[in-house]
Amino acid sequence: MTRWGLRSRLFFSHILVMTVGIISLVAIGKISSPRFFVLKLEQLEGTGFRLRYARPQLIEGFENAWYRGTFWSVIASTTASGALSYWLSRRIVQSLTQMEQMTQQFASGQLDRRLPASDIPELNSLSASFNRMADSLEGVEQRRRELISDLTHELRTPLTIVRGYLEELAEGGIAPSPEIYLQIATETKRLERLVNDLQELSKAEAGYLAINLQPVNLRPLLESLVQRFADQLLEEGPTLSLQCPPQLPLVLADIDRTEQVLVNLLGNALLYTPTGAIALCAWVEPGSLWLAVTDTGIGIAPEHLPHIFERFYRADRSRSRHSGGTGIGLAISRRLVELQGGEIAVESELGKGSTFRFFLPLV
Ligand code: ADP
Repeated sequence: MTRWGLRSRLFFSHILVMTVGIISLVAIGKISSPRFFVLKLEQLEGTGFRLRYARPQLIEGFENAWYRGTFWSVIASTTASGALSYWLSRRIVQSLTQMEQMTQQFASGQLDRRLPASDIPELNSLSASFNRMADSLEGVEQRRRELISDLTHELRTPLTIVRGYLEELAEGGIAPSPEIYLQIATETKRLERLVNDLQELSKAEAGYLAINLQPVNLRPLLESLVQRFADQLLEEGPTLSLQCPPQLPLVLADIDRTEQVLVNLLGNALLYTPTGAIALCAWVEPGSLWLAVTDTGIGIAPEHLPHIFERFYRADRSRSRHSGGTGIGLAISRRLVELQGGEIAVESELGKGSTFRFFLPLV
């Protein structure tokens, strides 16, 4: 149906209702009203009142008055309801036309388009839900653009370095040496890690990551992690300790994913804590088990803290690039914790250290 079709249909449906109303009003008035009037006159005659001679004139007078009244009321109601129907149908159709245009503009890529509020409640709620959908689509699109631009940026640096070395080697500008090959290998590894992290992140964000929730006792995992990381610590480096009650209640978690989160947090703590202490802590609160990695490292500035779980976000770009960080680890960690029904948070002070903590639901 065309727009005009909808408008006409609305308009004529109103007119039809009105016409039926008028016809029935006239028909009933014409057939039944004079009869009732005659009946009333006969009743009056019964009481001895002599109306016989005045009766035809009375009836004629009544009919005239009735016809005149009906005529004007029909004119008034037709005009009023006709105008009202026209105005109403126009108003609805105008809003719908506007909505259609906006949605077409939105579909053609103008993602900032929003529907205006309407004083017709049904249309208003339609506008509101369309606008909500538009907001979320705009957000997705924005994140997609950011991801692509971040990604290009991340890929370009190692690729440029590798290409530079290879060209120099080919042209004989530098002599081949184990250090050069090692440098190329490091950059290639960086690319590989980036691709792996990205794959993991995209799976986690899209919800494809298989999460196998089971009742688990995390204490053995915490012990083995501390053991594993303690082996990597240098003499002059930080100390690593486990602060955990001897018995832990069972949590509903995927042990591999929890390990992945803790490995990332401990890895970061080691990376950003040149000297001092790192602690892996566990404690129980009603309904949940909390795990935290605390360090006395370089800390994170307040302006970086709100963004630290965003992908590719690195508080100190040059330093973490040097250390091989991709800025994806915490984004994955957050998603993995959320997929297990928990939440992750950070507290940090520049120069003093950081605490990353998250909870998992108890069985
Ligand atoms: P990356 O792979 O770069 O470590 P993450 O997502 O794991 O990526 O971390 C993002 C950024 O958060 C890091 O680049 C670093 O700047 C900051 N960060 C993470 N953990 C710590 C920490 N324990 N101490 C100080 N800064 C940290």
